[in-house]
Amino acid sequence: MPIAVSTRIPPSVAPLILLLEDEQAIADTLLYVLGSEGFEVRHERLARDARAAVAERLPALAILDVGLPDGSGFDVCRDIRRQSNLPVLFLTARADEFDRVLGLELGADDYVAKPFSPREVCARVRAILRRSAGSAAPGAAPVLPLRLDDGAQRILGPAGPLPLTRLEYRLLAALLRRPERIFSRRELMSMVWDDAPDTSDRTVDAHVKLVRAKLREAGLDGDLIQTHRHMGYSLQR
Ligand code: CA
Repeated sequence: MPIAVSTRIPPSVAPLILLLEDEQAIADTLLYVLGSEGFEVRHERLARDARAAVAERLPALAILDVGLPDGSGFDVCRDIRRQSNLPVLFLTARADEFDRVLGLELGADDYVAKPFSPREVCARVRAILRRSAGSAAPGAAPVLPLRLDDGAQRILGPAGPLPLTRLEYRLLAALLRRPERIFSRRELMSMVWDDAPDTSDRTVDAHVKLVRAKLREAGLDGDLIQTHRHMGYSLQR
């Protein structure tokens, strides 16, 4: 049997991230932060180069800008999805630019609106990679002690339904639908308090406190809901 001699450099242990972003300043800050967190980053400015990069070496995750000189990040995502289900994080010019329906159809794992903090992007990248590692190895991820009963608008703990108010239910349900996804207070406000536009950050914080107390009363860990400094909240697995 012939011995295969590879002259290629062995792939590094750092997860490879594809960054598709045409604005150099934004790309530079992300390259710096992701690099300093130990990721290997391949940066491309054009949709067609990103497609070629994916074909050449499949990254662990792709960060895709939506508005590109030669197309849309959505189209790149669609093409990537034809060959793999690698996690995708979108960068959008504004929160309302991101078409949630289209993003969900394409299987986007998350999105961040500009201007963003590079640290936030890093945290989201890590969270997505953790989630995808968990789903790739069923049984490896700890099972949440909570179950969403959407039809009955209730959340079940180990000893039955949690005694939540309508808003507490909506808040916990929002977190529970996407475990480990970090929701900003603004996002939670629009998801939970969509009928009360004068809600403030403090309203969100106060309700998180109430929900944590009810988790504890049900014999669960109140820290199931994690606080992320300057970013928001997530539900821990
Ligand atoms: Ca752009």
